[in-house]
Amino acid sequence: MKFTVPEKLNVFRKLLARLGKFYYWRKPKKINLWLLSSMAYGVTKKYEEIFKGATGKAVDTFTQHFVNGAKAIMFQMQDRIKILYSQSLEDLEFVASIALYVILGPNWKKFFSQPVFIPADRTDNGIAQFRIKFPICALCAGIKPGIDLDPQKMEEYSYGELLAAALAHLLQMVQDYVGNDYNIEIKETKCKLRGDSHGEAVMFFHPKKN
Ligand SMILES: [Zn+2]
Repeated sequence: MKFTVPEKLNVFRKLLARLGKFYYWRKPKKINLWLLSSMAYGVTKKYEEIFKGATGKAVDTFTQHFVNGAKAIMFQMQDRIKILYSQSLEDLEFVASIALYVILGPNWKKFFSQPVFIPADRTDNGIAQFRIKFPICALCAGIKPGIDLDPQKMEEYSYGELLAAALAHLLQMVQDYVGNDYNIEIKETKCKLRGDSHGEAVMFFHPKKN
């Protein structure tokens, strides 16, 4: 039987997701954000050494490798998670909250605010957006700016690029799968490393030009 992607998630699929999240949160190994950020920091410093202190290039190269890894995992997972796929961008608010629960557990709201979708007709530039704020940056929380890492040396790259780029590619895979014509871009708009009071990421849905 061929799997068809619905326009919008129905009540039944949403209920399945609400129940399933408890099971999937308990089942796999937990992600520890501190461990994740320590690993990312360690690898970044290693690349920085390889590229003779070019922090921007280190962050960018590590990001590319990280994206490839994330895409490989997504390929394997796609069959299990596609029940939550739909063409509706509004559904992403719901799907994101389920995904955050599965990854981080019942306390996910300590780390992320409820993601907000803003349709194209309500944005300044006419591009649909999806915003998420985080009081603690998952990646840079333990890093001392100027001591552990010099934000000035990152050039146009942001430290959160790592997660943003991986997430953008994963979401691109989903959007391509459901048959939507968007190019996904994610920008880390605020980061504690650059002196902001909290972190924020914005996802843009650029319509593909035909
Ligand atoms: Zn940050």
